[in-house]
Amino acid sequence: MSKKNRRCHECGIGKVVPQARKGRFARYKTMPKLEIPADLPIPTCDNCGAEWLDEKTTQALDTALDNAFRTALRERAVKAIKKITSHISQRKLESLLGLSHGYISKLRTGGKNPSAELVSQLALISRDPDQRILELEKFWETL
Ligand SMILES: [Zn+2]
Repeated sequence: MSKKNRRCHECGIGKVVPQARKGRFARYKTMPKLEIPADLPIPTCDNCGAEWLDEKTTQALDTALDNAFRTALRERAVKAIKKITSHISQRKLESLLGLSHGYISKLRTGGKNPSAELVSQLALISRDPDQRILELEKFWETL
């Protein structure tokens, strides 16, 4: 930061210094509580803890949250897929969801990033795979 030892305008006592730590969260897209990467420095008051986001920090935070969001989506997708594919084959799941053959394998190995929409579908199906799969099959069969 260019301005060193900036005084905090919130409490008027502390100094605003870049701080990187665990346990900070932000709302991002579908996730109300996404952890901000522990190594991302955010100008923070050393007295009251108020965070002061300048333009550079805001950009870095947005990039970091976007990466964390994509990682979280893939992890959730893989977890749901694991549960669902103990009930039906990966190929059949791809077919029911209109995914191309091999998509799920690519997703599992990190070669694809699932959309929030797809992860939502997988989440709902994984709650009760047998029932949801039956419903989907019936839905697609219906004229
Ligand atoms: Zn302060």
